[in-house]
Order: sequence, then structure tokens, then C-alpha cells
Amino acid sequence: MSDFAELSIDGRIATPSDSDWDEVRLGWNLAIDQRPEAVALVANAEDIAKTVAFAASHDLRVAGQGTGHGSTGLPPLDETILIKTAAMRGVEIDPDAQTARVEAGVLSLELGEAGQPNGLCGMPGSSPDVGIVGYTLGGGLSWLARKHGFACNRVTAIEVVTAAGEQRTVNADDGADLFWALRGGGGGYAIVTALHIALLPIAEAYAGALLFPAAVGADAVRTYRDWAAEAPDEVTSVVRFLTPPPIPDVPEPLRGTPLLTITGACIGTQEEGEVAFAPLRQIGETLMDTFGWMPTVGLSRIHMDPENPVPGVGEGGLVKELTDEAIDAFVGVAGPDSGTPLLLSELRMLGGALGRPAENAGALSHIDADYAIYSVGMAMTPEMGDAARAHLKKIGETMKPWSSEGSYFNFTEAPCDVDAILPPSVCDRLREVKRAWDPEGRVVANHAVASAATRS
Ligand SMILES: Cc1cc2nc3c(=O)[nH]c(=O)nc-3n(C[C@H](O)[C@H](O)[C@H](O)COP(=O)(O)OP(=O)(O)OC[C@H]3O[C@@H](n4cnc5c(N)ncnc54)[C@H](O)[C@@H]3O)c2cc1C
Repeated sequence: MSDFAELSIDGRIATPSDSDWDEVRLGWNLAIDQRPEAVALVANAEDIAKTVAFAASHDLRVAGQGTGHGSTGLPPLDETILIKTAAMRGVEIDPDAQTARVEAGVLSLELGEAGQPNGLCGMPGSSPDVGIVGYTLGGGLSWLARKHGFACNRVTAIEVVTAAGEQRTVNADDGADLFWALRGGGGGYAIVTALHIALLPIAEAYAGALLFPAAVGADAVRTYRDWAAEAPDEVTSVVRFLTPPPIPDVPEPLRGTPLLTITGACIGTQEEGEVAFAPLRQIGETLMDTFGWMPTVGLSRIHMDPENPVPGVGEGGLVKELTDEAIDAFVGVAGPDSGTPLLLSELRMLGGALGRPAENAGALSHIDADYAIYSVGMAMTPEMGDAARAHLKKIGETMKPWSSEGSYFNFTEAPCDVDAILPPSVCDRLREVKRAWDPEGRVVANHAVASAATRS
């Protein structure tokens, strides 16, 4: 065990001898038992630089963590200092340049709140409390995505502490290879201290959710698929089977009720939004319809994702083409009569800008598939976790005939190398970046590149 008393930072170093160790080492996903050598609760970039330098001189590794939403994909954290950036919450908006500088602990909703008074927004996804950094390094699939691509490609510069402990800023002209890798290739190349993001001048959107009884089934998914194929790029949407848990946070009529939900946003005018989503109301009588014209800061809440830490297990994949057979298979394994123990299984529309090569793209440029699939189960007990994992596997096997190669980084939860996610040419380039910037395999991340330098 290293002598962490030698590591003095403005934040705090927590070790297993601390009375609150079990609390400090937890991430957002309570199902993950994170057991690092120590946790650095850093206050600023200097703290991160000191922590990385200490790790280098003690032959330890480091892992960056904003919230722990993405902790499922991490390898074991022995001999690793977990650098938690939750205290680094600064957001600076430049209204004239329409940019934001976002520190490593900032949450999605916080960027929305900072941009809204200036009529600006980032690229919010479905969760208000994912960390902007982890979400963006893995791509960032937002409600604005089919018009504006992955969130990672709206990053203009990245402040990092390199594996050598050096603080610097990388961008398209300086450190371009590291800048490229971090935009969609995950966090395994350096510790990020802040992102510079080009915002969008979009103050309002037409958005919300339609909730139907799950019994609307395969016909509803087919109606959705046909509608989605014609939808303009301004529209991004998700169809999902969801059984809300019987807890007080869920309104009474919906508790434990199997639902089919359609959530989405249109970033055109209010009228364009109303016209775009109107055909979906023909699916049947809604149990709830929350669609309306709203400030874009509200987008990260339309999907009603949990805002407090929960124990969850999930897995994602890609559906190349959602044929009638694929829909039947999906409904058979995830729909109302499937016996699924999962909380939800969803299909997220890709296409539009998500399917076209992005200009000056990072490691994730675009995805050649029509849908991302993602399912989640609750793991309140080990038995629930086992049942959920078994069903996630079953969904993967069932949907295999219609799946694309690879996966979407942020929805890939099993610990795996990036080779299972991104195309081979991208992975080769990521390996070069890893060799150049972290030759000793100091930086640990979910879905790292497999290389001789990466310790197992
Ligand atoms: C309820 C829920 C809803 C979601 N909705 C969406 C969605 O709509 N769209 C989407 O794209 N994804 C979504 N995700 C997936 C989410 O984007 C990933 O889990 C992402 O990794 C979360 O980032 P984080 O910073 O919150 O998590 P963390 O676990 O803190 O970070 C994830 C990984 O990012 C890297 N990382 C984080 N901080 C740093 C840093 N400072 N330096 C270097 N590396 C770092 C590390 O490799 C880390 O393991 C959702 C996840 C959940 C649980």
C-alpha cells in the first residue's frame, strides 16, 4: 500500500482506512463494487496533475470518474487511484462565441441551465445527471443528434492532464491525435479536466413523451418504425417497453404498469413539432401525453430517467435494419408477453446526421445502423442482477440476425475492449494514440484499447 499521506491536494484523498470509505468509493451505479487503491476527490486540475504524478512515481494507475454512470464497463480498480471530479462544477458560457467551457464534474442538466438564459444549449441526452465529460467522450447521443450528430464532434478543445502528469490543452492543431481519440473513443488516453464545446442557438423545442399500455405491442412498433423512416432530421426519438417500478416517485396509475413509451424532440418550430409527432397518436389512447413547446433545458427530463443513484445492469447494441421480423423478435423478447425481468428495453432512432460522416470528426464520426438498442434491469439483489444479466444476453442473441457490427460506446456496459465497439481502422488509430500518450498504460477506462501497454 502506497503512503498517500505524501499526496497533498486541495481536495481529499480517501483510502480504505477512512470511516466513510464505503460511501466514497461508490459510483452512481450502486450495482458496481468499486474497489480502488484510493479515491482522489479532486478540487481542480492541479489536484489531478498531482494525483497522476503521484501514481506515476508509485507505479499506480489512474481512472477518471465524473458520476459513475458508466462504471459498469470498468476493469477491476486494484492498484488504481480513482479520480472523482464531482467537485469540479464550473461552467463558463461565452454568449458571443456561443461556446461553453465545462469542468470535468459538470452534469448534463447543469450545462443546460447555464446555457438557457443565453438561448444556448449543448447536446443533452436522456439523463439529467450524467457527467458531460463521460457522456461526450463516449459519443453523446442527444435529442438533437439526428440534426447535429454526436455530441463529441461539437467539442473544440480539451483540457487534460496527460499520463505523464502534464497539464495541457489539445485541439485540432495541437495534440490533434489525442483530441481525436477523446472525441468518441472514451477516456483511456488522458484525464480530462475541462471540455470546450460549441453550443447551439436553440432555446426551445417541441418535446415530450407518449405513454401507451404495452399491449399496443408489435403493431405500435411497426407504426413507429414507418413514421421514423420519414421523420426529418430535426426529430430524434426513442420507442421503449417500460414497466415503471412500484415506488412512490412513480404516479399511481403507472406504478408497475407495462407501458410502451415514445419520447422525442423536434428542434424546428412548434408547428413543425406538432405536425411531426401527430401521427403517433393514432397508435391508440395514451395514458399520458407530455408533449409541448419547452425550453431546451427541459430536454434531459422528457425520458424520465432516474436522477438518483440506482443499482442497474444494462446492455446495448445496434440494429442495422428494423424489419418486421426484427420487430416481432424485439417484442417477443422485450414486450408485454415476454416475461422480461427488465425495467426497460428501447430502440433509439439513429440516421440523419448520426449516419453521415461528420466533418472534422473524432473517433466516433457516425454509425451505420438504423437503431441503437438498449435495455436495463434493476439489481436490488444479486438474484435480480443475475436474472437481468441473463435476459440481457437473451436479447442480444435474439436480435443478432438484425444486428450491425460493433456497438454504441455509451450503451455498451459489459467490460470489453474498444475493438468490440468501434471499426478496426479506428481501433488501430486509437492504439497508436495510446502508445504515444500513455505508453505505460497508466490511464484506466471503460472499453480501453487492447495493447501491450495496457495492463490487464
Ligand atoms: C440513466 C442513463 C441514461 C443515459 N442516457 C444516455 C443518452 O441519452 N445518451 C448517451 O449517449 N448516453 C447515455 N447514457 C450513457 C452515459 O452517457 C454513459 O454511461 C457515460 O459514460 C456516463 O458518463 P459519466 O461521466 O456520467 O459517467 P462516469 O462513469 O463518471 O464516466 C464514464 C467513463 O468516462 C470516462 N471519464 C469520465 N470522466 C473522465 C475524465 N475526467 N477524464 C477521463 N475520462 C473520464 C471514464 O472512462 C469513465 O469510466 C445513459 C446512462 C444512464 C445510466
